[in-house]
Amino acid sequence: MIIQLDKQCSQESYQRITQRVESIDYQFKRIQTQYGDYLVCIGKSEFDIRSIGALPGISDVHRVSDQYKLVSAKWKVGRTVIDLGDNVRIGGDEVVVMAGPCSIEGPDQIESSVKALLKCGIKIMRGGVYKPRSSPYSFRGIGLEGLKEFYKTCREHGIKIITEVMQSSQIEDMYPYVDVFQVGARNSQNFNLLDALGEVDKTVMIKRGISGSINELLQSAEYVFSGGNERIMLCERGIRTHETAYRNTLDLNAIPILKKKSHLPVISDPSHGIGIREFVVPMSLASVAAGADGIIVEAHERPHEALSDAAQTISHEDLEVLVGKVRALESALKN
Ligand code: PEP
Ligand code: MN
Repeated sequence: MIIQLDKQCSQESYQRITQRVESIDYQFKRIQTQYGDYLVCIGKSEFDIRSIGALPGISDVHRVSDQYKLVSAKWKVGRTVIDLGDNVRIGGDEVVVMAGPCSIEGPDQIESSVKALLKCGIKIMRGGVYKPRSSPYSFRGIGLEGLKEFYKTCREHGIKIITEVMQSSQIEDMYPYVDVFQVGARNSQNFNLLDALGEVDKTVMIKRGISGSINELLQSAEYVFSGGNERIMLCERGIRTHETAYRNTLDLNAIPILKKKSHLPVISDPSHGIGIREFVVPMSLASVAAGADGIIVEAHERPHEALSDAAQTISHEDLEVLVGKVRALESALKN
């Protein structure tokens, strides 16, 4: 059960509410976020929900039987729209395209990426400065100095930044230079990192784990929300299956299912999802057709030379084609 408390819930009302919750043998946890004040209540006994809803200090009460609660679609009227400022919204009417290299490599590459994004009307640039790599000998990113450069150039051109944070100790240093913190697939269940991002007042995009279930992704999002941060998006980036003909299996099914189960925006990452450059455009379109609120795509001026994930990185020319097709599909779907 989720109890939404009134903004003006007095201490006295709060005590009466919690006494009532205890009297029906439910445990509760108070969650205060940047937008709301909630009591998440866990228990099994039968009770008349109206007897709780009628108490002073409560604005609404809902039964939510899922393992995740606050990210569930069962209590929230309407979907979450994340406003990054400057008219950049995720989860609203327009499909959001985020693009950029897998890794930030240096000033020239940042410049060329920004130019390409501006040409396509893309307002959010991706790029990792801390890279989780399977091999310790692979390129692992240019770190905080690279992020500062990335930020400076993007800000000059009104572009927002999404970049991966790998551990909670990095959050503080990264904070001034980030619009969206990305939690990578390998960290999808790093609960300490998720807890720490719950305390941050910036948007977080959580990728589904490499072998993670939909339910696990939603519970990871619950960590961030219950830590106090409602600004969350979910990302399907492909899962590991028995198939070896491509890098990962982009689980398109997850898109409508996540949207049904949760009020949070759902993003698709077809680059990691299939891992093959030539199919990134069709899988982006398939994601939009499946209902994704946005896509995140790897693009580079010279894709073959990208320092990481070259095989799945598209050219800037193809990025322009992709955006044109996404917009055409979007309007066709609205008719
Ligand atoms: C990335 O976005 O470059 C990345 C490493 O993604 P994932 O965590 O999905 O593998
Ligand atoms: Mn990558």
